[in-house]
Amino acid sequence: METTDITIIGAGVVGLSIASQVAQKNRNVVLVERHSGFGQETSSRNSEVIHAGIYYPEGFLKAKLCVAGNIMLYRICQENKIPYKQTGKLIVAVTEKQVPDLEDLLEKGKRNGVENLSLISSKKVGELEPHITACAALFVPSAGIIDSHRLMKFWETKAKDSGASIIYGCEVKSIEKISGGYRVGVNDSSGETFFFSTRILINSSGLESGNIAARAGIDIDEAGYRISYCKGEYFRVGGGKHKLAQRLIYPTPPKPGFVGIHTVPDLQEMMKLGPYDYYVDKINYDVDETNRELFYRSVKPFLPFIELEDLKPDTSGIHPKIQKPGEPIKDFIITHEEKRGLPGFINLVGIESPGLTSSPAIGSYVEKMVAGII
Ligand SMILES: Cc1cc2nc3c(=O)[nH]c(=O)nc-3n(C[C@H](O)[C@H](O)[C@H](O)COP(=O)(O)OP(=O)(O)OC[C@H]3O[C@@H](n4cnc5c(N)ncnc54)[C@H](O)[C@@H]3O)c2cc1C
Repeated sequence: METTDITIIGAGVVGLSIASQVAQKNRNVVLVERHSGFGQETSSRNSEVIHAGIYYPEGFLKAKLCVAGNIMLYRICQENKIPYKQTGKLIVAVTEKQVPDLEDLLEKGKRNGVENLSLISSKKVGELEPHITACAALFVPSAGIIDSHRLMKFWETKAKDSGASIIYGCEVKSIEKISGGYRVGVNDSSGETFFFSTRILINSSGLESGNIAARAGIDIDEAGYRISYCKGEYFRVGGGKHKLAQRLIYPTPPKPGFVGIHTVPDLQEMMKLGPYDYYVDKINYDVDETNRELFYRSVKPFLPFIELEDLKPDTSGIHPKIQKPGEPIKDFIITHEEKRGLPGFINLVGIESPGLTSSPAIGSYVEKMVAGII
């Protein structure tokens, strides 16, 4: 049976970042992905926003890794010619009643270490974005957008150049603890099963992360690792209206744990609205056209130029949430499962937003864990 030092399951943006950072120092590293290429699930079905890190509770990994990841991402983009734009973001209040919520967000953001936040007046909002309606806004200059495909390509190349093997079209089906590591069973694209052993196993399988943890023998209900699917849908803005807002424009958060339907400008200077998030039982990426009215009603108060007929169904993605409907926000789980009797097994579960922004910092975080084991 073949033996390797480190195996990573999942070539999304997080698994690729980890692979690029652990593939060093003559380690034998393998990344296994069930699809024929990288980033075919959540990592290519998101807003591609470089978040600043203001929304998350103080002390959460989500806050720390997002704030660190934001700085790292801009540097990586600049040094490696990965397309990005630091658009900045406005979180708008449309009524005076919402202004205290923005003040709370400002304080939360400062506590999380986000720099250069400011509350700005309606007049200043008008100077920055003349077509939107707001009585005040939280200005977040460090937010932006990124070409996430190019980021993943960069990490794939870096991992390979550092000696990692990336095996596409292979699905991890079984995990068995053996002396000094794990025996991993994989089905290849022809349906053949093969086995290899690994000293360290890193679960970065996104929507499957709960199931993979279960395959390693963890009681995922007791551990709080069961994934709930929460779909996020987008509508595209047509009718020439995409030019009427340059920045990321977000509403005051409608409820805890949700940022609300916002503008999502892209690097081709087009614009989507979304995501509209709701829990689902199955993975299905269809966009429900009947939600057009809901999108319209949500954004009309701050994007008065939008008309119902401007909105066309676009894409969707699925958030791998560990909080069930109505439960408070939970943190990323990134943990070495030594205490559960699984030394060398590193679990990443519930890597929802801001997972893209946090991805470089998650890679460094996991690399430190690996260095402590190997
Ligand atoms: C609607 C939406 C909007 C978002 N917007 C943003 C945003 O603007 N900014 C931001 O920072 N974050 C955002 N996110 C979050 C971000 O997209 C995710 O956190 C990130 O993409 C997670 O990456 P990942 O590598 O963990 O997971 P994934 O991209 O899901 O990758 C996991 C991989 O594991 C593979 N896999 C699963 N099981 C197996 C198996 N058994 N064997 C082999 N391979 C397997 C899958 O095929 C997949 O390729 C958003 C998410 C959604 C859903």
